Amino acid sequence: MTDQEIRELICELCRLFYRQGWVSGTGGGISIRDGDRAFIAPSGVQKERLSPEDLFVSDLKGNVLQEPAGNACISACTPLFLAAFELRDAGAVMHSHSANAVMATLRFQERVEIRHLEMIKGIEGHGYDDPLVIPIIENTAHEHDLADSLRDAIQAYPRTQAVLVRRHGIYVWGRDWTAAKRHAECYDYLLGVAGQMQDAGFDPSAPDPGREFAADNAQ
Ligand SMILES: [Zn+2]
Repeated sequence: MTDQEIRELICELCRLFYRQGWVSGTGGGISIRDGDRAFIAPSGVQKERLSPEDLFVSDLKGNVLQEPAGNACISACTPLFLAAFELRDAGAVMHSHSANAVMATLRFQERVEIRHLEMIKGIEGHGYDDPLVIPIIENTAHEHDLADSLRDAIQAYPRTQAVLVRRHGIYVWGRDWTAAKRHAECYDYLLGVAGQMQDAGFDPSAPDPGREFAADNAQ
């Protein structure tokens, strides 16, 4: 993709995520990596009204290479985006303040565990029988102070493609922007269903009893 195409794509994704309620009130963010550069939406702006020329470009250490005119600030999420690029070779990262994500951090303590839901297959490295585990880190007053605990969680949970932040939201990444978008959608759906399962008296981390029965019969 050309630089202009990446810039236009970020604006399009911000509008899509805004409609999902993930980046309302100027919250949330997104970054797409192109080689050793990261295109990053600015902080504190209305994400659904972003224009391609509003973006920052940084190197993978966070040094700004290009900045928009005016006095926009680079996203406070930048060190967190860079952590996923560095530690997971991610091609894109998105950060949302989704209500499903926030509620999951109140329902669960150290991590969310979900088993036997079809949408788990949408998360890279996971089949239907693989438990999906999403670590939860504690929130901080300033977003950039989350970077160390996010890095620790990424390393402690090598299969995860997302980290939840208590009372705040979720960081989700993927090998490229299509995987990051798919992951963001699947995680949000799964976290929402996990909450509804709890409300209905089901433990989302418990295996499907019908599945075990089917496995027994197959032996
Ligand atoms: Zn945030």
